[in-house]
Amino acid sequence: MAHKQNGRIVIIGAGVSGLTSARMLNDKYDVTIFERASKPGGLIKCERIEGSLFHTCGGHVFNTKKQDVAKWFWQFFNQENDFVKTDRNSVVQLEQKIVPYPIENHVYMLDSELQNRFIDDCLRIATNKSVQPSDFEAFLRGRFGDTLYDLYFKPYNEKVWRCDLRNVSLAWLEGKLPMPTVQEMLFNNFNHVEEKQFVHSSFYYEKNNGSQFLADSLAKGLNIRYDSEIQDMTYCDGKWQVNGETFDKVIYCGNIKEMIKHINGLNVNAYLNDVESLPYHGTTSVFCEIEANPYSWIYLPSDKYACHRIICTGNFSQTNNAPTLAGNRITATIEFTDAISHEEILANLAKMPYHPTYITHKFNQYTYPIQTNSTRQMIQRLKQELAKSNFYMTGRFADWEYYNMDVAMAAAIELCKKINN
Ligand SMILES: Cc1cc2nc3c(=O)[nH]c(=O)nc-3n(C[C@H](O)[C@H](O)[C@H](O)COP(=O)(O)OP(=O)(O)OC[C@H]3O[C@@H](n4cnc5c(N)ncnc54)[C@H](O)[C@@H]3O)c2cc1C
Repeated sequence: MAHKQNGRIVIIGAGVSGLTSARMLNDKYDVTIFERASKPGGLIKCERIEGSLFHTCGGHVFNTKKQDVAKWFWQFFNQENDFVKTDRNSVVQLEQKIVPYPIENHVYMLDSELQNRFIDDCLRIATNKSVQPSDFEAFLRGRFGDTLYDLYFKPYNEKVWRCDLRNVSLAWLEGKLPMPTVQEMLFNNFNHVEEKQFVHSSFYYEKNNGSQFLADSLAKGLNIRYDSEIQDMTYCDGKWQVNGETFDKVIYCGNIKEMIKHINGLNVNAYLNDVESLPYHGTTSVFCEIEANPYSWIYLPSDKYACHRIICTGNFSQTNNAPTLAGNRITATIEFTDAISHEEILANLAKMPYHPTYITHKFNQYTYPIQTNSTRQMIQRLKQELAKSNFYMTGRFADWEYYNMDVAMAAAIELCKKINN
C-alpha cells in the first residue's frame, strides 16, 4: 500500500491538533494516535448530564477568518445539516445595568458622568502618542482610558488572570484582543454600531452534541487507541519506540511539560528548567441551569463573586437543554479561573445574577498557557532540535500558544504540509 512506503507516524493526543494532523497525514502515512482519555476532543469534550449537554471546559464555538482552514474544515461537515450559524449576542453585566459587548462601543449607554469621563480619556489617549506600554495594565489604560479600565477591564481581567495586571506580560496579546483606535471607539458610539457588524460577530455551532460532534466526526475512521497514556518516547537507531511499537516520526500534541520528561535517547536537559517554569492557568467549568435570557456570553466584572463569565450554551442549540428543563430555564457553563472547592462554587452561585442552580463541575488544570517574552524563542529552538530526529510538536500546550480551535488547526495543517513534502 502507498502509505506504508512513507512509514509509520505516531500522534500523541486526539484533541483538535492531533485529529487535524492525523487527517492531514492519513493518506500518505500509516498513522496511529494514542489518547489517554476514552474519547476524542481534549479540551472540546462534552458530556450529557441529566439529558443536557455539558461542555466540560468552556463552551466551544467555531469560527475562522482563515480561508485555508475554513476550506479544510468544511470538507468534513455539511454546514447546513450539521451546524447552525448564530449571531453572537454578548453583554457585560455591570452592577446597575447590562451593556452590550464590547463595552467601549456602548459608552453612550452609561450615565452622563461616565460618558464625560470617557470623552476626557479619549482626548488624552488621542494626544498621548509617545509611551509604549510595558505591561497589561498600562496597555489597557492607554488603549481604553482610566474610566473603562476601572469600571470593567481591571475587575474583569483580575478575575481571569488572578494577579495584579502590572505583572501580566504583553507577549500573549498580539492578535488576541480587539485593538480599536480612539476614532473607531467614538465612531461606534456615535453610530450605535452593534456587535453583529463585527468580523467575529457570528459563529457556527453543532446542532447536536456541541463540540463533541466536531471531535467525533474528525476522529471517524482514524486508528485511535483510547485509554492509552504515553509516558515514554525513546529514540534509538533513527526510529521512535512508543508503547512497545516502532515509528518513523512522532507528532506530539499533548503538554510540553510532560513531553520534556517523556523523551528518552535525546538530550533535552538544557530545556528542562525553562519548560518546567512555564506559567499557566486552569479553569473550573460549572454546569448550571440559569434563568432563560437571549445572550451568548455574559461577562461579569463584579468582585462580589469569583467567576468571570457565563457561557449560555443552552442558547447555542435547543438540543443542549434536556426536554424536561422548565421553559424559563436554560443550561450554561460558569467559568472560574483555577481550582475552586464545591462549597466555594455554591457560595458564589448564591450571589450571582440569573439564579444559577448547580448541576456538576469539572476542573481542567491546563487551559490558559501564559507566555513570557522568551517563551516563543525557547520553544522554537527546541522544535528545531527535535525535528532533526523526526520529532514534531503542535497544539495549544505543545506550542504553549493561546490557540483557538481554528488556529490550532492552522498550525497542525502547516506542520503536516511540511512533513508530507
Ligand atoms: C475555556 C476555554 C474556552 C475555549 N473556547 C473556544 C471557542 O469557543 N472556540 C475556539 O475555537 N477555541 C476555544 N478554545 C480553545 C480550544 O480549546 C483549543 O484551541 C483546542 O481545543 C486545542 O486543542 P489541542 O489538540 O491543541 O489540545 P488539547 O485539547 O489539550 O488536546 C490534547 C490531547 O492530548 C491528550 N494527551 C495529552 N498527553 C497525552 C499522553 N501523554 N498520552 C496520551 N494522550 C495525551 C489529551 O488527553 C488531549 O485529548 C477555548 C479554550 C478554553 C480553555
